[in-house]
Amino acid sequence: METVKFEELGLSPQIMRAVKEMGFEEATPIQSQAIPVVMSGADVIGQAQTGTGKTASFGIPLLMKVDPNNKKTQAIVLSPTRELAIQSAEEIRKLSKYMHGVKVLPVYGGQDITRQIKALKGGATIIIGTPGRVMDHLRRKTIRFDFVETIVLDEADEMLNMGFREDIETILSYIPNEERQTVLFSATMPKPILEITKKFQKKDVERITITKKELTVPNIDQYYYDVRRNNKVDVLTRLLDYHNPKLSLVFCNTKRMVDELASELQGRGYAAEGIHGDMKQQQRDRVMKSFRNGRTDILIATDVAARGIDVDDVEAVFNFDLPQDNEYYVHRIGRTGRAGRTGRAFNFVKGKEVYKLKEIQRYCKTKIKAQPIPSTDDVAAIKAEKIMDEIGMIIEDGKLRDMIDIIEQQVNNSDYTAMDIAAAFLKQAIGGVELSREDKDMDAALAGDTGAEEGMVRLFVNIGKSQRIKPGDILGAVAGEANIPGKLVGAIDMYDNYTFVEVPEEYGRDVLKAMKNVKIKGKSVNVEPANSR
Ligand code: ADP
Ligand code: MG
Repeated sequence: METVKFEELGLSPQIMRAVKEMGFEEATPIQSQAIPVVMSGADVIGQAQTGTGKTASFGIPLLMKVDPNNKKTQAIVLSPTRELAIQSAEEIRKLSKYMHGVKVLPVYGGQDITRQIKALKGGATIIIGTPGRVMDHLRRKTIRFDFVETIVLDEADEMLNMGFREDIETILSYIPNEERQTVLFSATMPKPILEITKKFQKKDVERITITKKELTVPNIDQYYYDVRRNNKVDVLTRLLDYHNPKLSLVFCNTKRMVDELASELQGRGYAAEGIHGDMKQQQRDRVMKSFRNGRTDILIATDVAARGIDVDDVEAVFNFDLPQDNEYYVHRIGRTGRAGRTGRAFNFVKGKEVYKLKEIQRYCKTKIKAQPIPSTDDVAAIKAEKIMDEIGMIIEDGKLRDMIDIIEQQVNNSDYTAMDIAAAFLKQAIGGVELSREDKDMDAALAGDTGAEEGMVRLFVNIGKSQRIKPGDILGAVAGEANIPGKLVGAIDMYDNYTFVEVPEEYGRDVLKAMKNVKIKGKSVNVEPANSR
């Protein structure tokens, strides 16, 4: 897709100055195509994914069109949420920074209406409002359409999702189609939107679509994990621990799931917060602020709530639930890897959902790679990989002569090979992922003579026949809790008040860990390595 420089768009010097100050290098594809057409006065349908700069696509033409000397309202932008209305108002305000006399005002539900009326009386050249509130003001005649020449429906798909269709139609019917310019922008184009455009836009409407291929987000590695419902949180925390992303966005399909997951992650000590449409605006503002400044590094959101999120350095997106709409997949993962940064997307897929994944891949023309769920041992591997990358850069950088001399000397004066030395350095660098204290203690205890057969360890369990426990109960608990095949569990010796059970050496630690909070027949048990016979 061809893009153009802002200089080629014939904008006023004031707008050019603002654009430069905002740091925009060149117009995005949707801006390149839409700005000239909207400026020509035509009715427009513009479609491009979230984050592609649709606001300026209509904001700049609006500013080119309005008369700063006229205090009356000349353009209305309808926006689905308070957050988006404020965000768009801020963007357009920035664009109008050097245009004296132009006032941009957001109006939305939830804000005290008398205060809004006062602000409106002060004059607003461009109003950006949620449909419900705009309707309200139209009825009170605190917003008048006498001088309005352009109406923009921004994020039209979201407005429909939020049930604003009737309000939109009412607002649009205030002015006859022929007497206004009607511009519509949306990330997706479901049928109801096209119905509205048919009804309310002129016959010669210009349709601009940034094609699906460009909808896909490059530069993003996408993975999926086959995860059972009950394991999702575990897998999520593991991935968070391993990849340690600076900011993460986790998507769920329901508000309830957002709440549940937020409290679960908080319970595990993560700086996580949820955001969704049921929350009070004040709460949402607080959560967003906390995410923006990094105090919260994991934000859990529904698709609708995420629409208002404009944060650039999200490093990882997790689809805790796969999106219900393929196109949402693109929007979700488009939240990471912005502005040329690399991003990653992790998808949790349970069983039959694999077909959904296939569809997404076909639709987005992208590859989502299967990944095994990382085990604790994988931390070391991942860390090593990272270190080796860094090492690679140091080698590329050269200037290693002095260091090579030292190593050479070491190799010549000792029995170590260069490989030994490199391996030792790597081990030292990985350091942090050594086994926990607890694991080390367990391994030490298991390494002693537990009186087991070759290749096995013998464990002591503090219940037995007197507690009406049968060998099958012990076998079931060990195999079930530690997730090892029953046939690998060895001899089970039961006594009145305790039992010995043998398990393969390599499972010793897993079993000890798994049995920690287990009850057998309602009784808490203690399991530890047995003493030698
Ligand atoms: P959309 O409405 O398509 O989701 P926005 O208009 O909200 O996207 O823009 C997303 C972000 O991209 C904003 O932070 C905006 O300032 C920025 N942006 C817009 N146009 C450009 C551009 N030409 N170059 C760089 N950044 C841009
Ligand atoms: Mg937008």
